[in-house]
Amino acid sequence: VRGFYSDHIELPAVPGLRYPASKQRALREAARLRLPGVRLLPGPLASEGELALAHDPAWIAAVVEGTLSAGARREIGLPWSPALAERSRCSVGATIAAARASLFDAEGVAVNLAGGSHHAHAHKGSGYCVFNDVAVAARLMQAEAHRRGRRTLLQVLVIDLDVHQGNGTASIFRHDDSVFTLSLHAAHNFPARKEAGDLDIALPDGCDDDTYLLALDAALAEAWGRLALRPPALAFYLAGADPHRDDQLGRLALGAEGLRERDRRVFAALAERHIPVVVAMAGGYGRELGTTVAIHFETLVLAFEQWQSWPRSSRRSAADGTIDR
Ligand SMILES: [Zn+2]
Repeated sequence: VRGFYSDHIELPAVPGLRYPASKQRALREAARLRLPGVRLLPGPLASEGELALAHDPAWIAAVVEGTLSAGARREIGLPWSPALAERSRCSVGATIAAARASLFDAEGVAVNLAGGSHHAHAHKGSGYCVFNDVAVAARLMQAEAHRRGRRTLLQVLVIDLDVHQGNGTASIFRHDDSVFTLSLHAAHNFPARKEAGDLDIALPDGCDDDTYLLALDAALAEAWGRLALRPPALAFYLAGADPHRDDQLGRLALGAEGLRERDRRVFAALAERHIPVVVAMAGGYGRELGTTVAIHFETLVLAFEQWQSWPRSSRRSAADGTIDR
């Protein structure tokens, strides 16, 4: 299975910042040492044309040229630098590359070791998110599938299990039935004002493993029901580590075992329906970096197992990504 990264573009250190810029490097190092089945590759830079599939040209230009207003910088929560602009483009490129591997190379699963920048809207960044990698990649895969001869629009499913609501993604696809957005998140957490996605499940503070997993099962059942007549041909899974009980920015109380079971159920549901998936790690702000990295690492282990068991028949039949179903 391929894992794409963007941490080789180093962000300038900012004292006191809660954003764990070193998380991705630690995850990549853990994968390199302990999970040799994951092929680690740098993400390519997304082009401005690709970004424009989900973003206003004015926003792209402001980020690339570094002409963001003070308010726009504050809302991102990270200081602008040329490296931030480049790394954000690289993270979008990583999700695009993972989507091509999963869908068109018929690998069934591929990973962005970061990504899941779900607070980024079409016209602005927010909450450590500059560009919405999943939104750009979803639109690009739809265009590329069409170019490869697919006759119907590629239906996409976004399963966003980061503890924060995927408000940017919901907003970008508000009037677009071809991308179904599901978000399970803490009710009383950032963003204060939620955007309406296709299916939003708001969980109470302190939600534990059992309650969460029941809610997940119900949400997935509801999503499959509503998608019965337009089954997804590609899924994006935002496997945020921030529902964990020791997270500084979450309000839920899942344990590592519950998060592993969460991932297992998502992968199983997708495998059962032969839906290729792109995994983005999304958020994770543990009091100890190691706690967060360990959760992301377990997601990688399950992604690797998913890739190993992806049926050869699916690999063959999906090879050109043009299956119409
Ligand atoms: Zn989050």
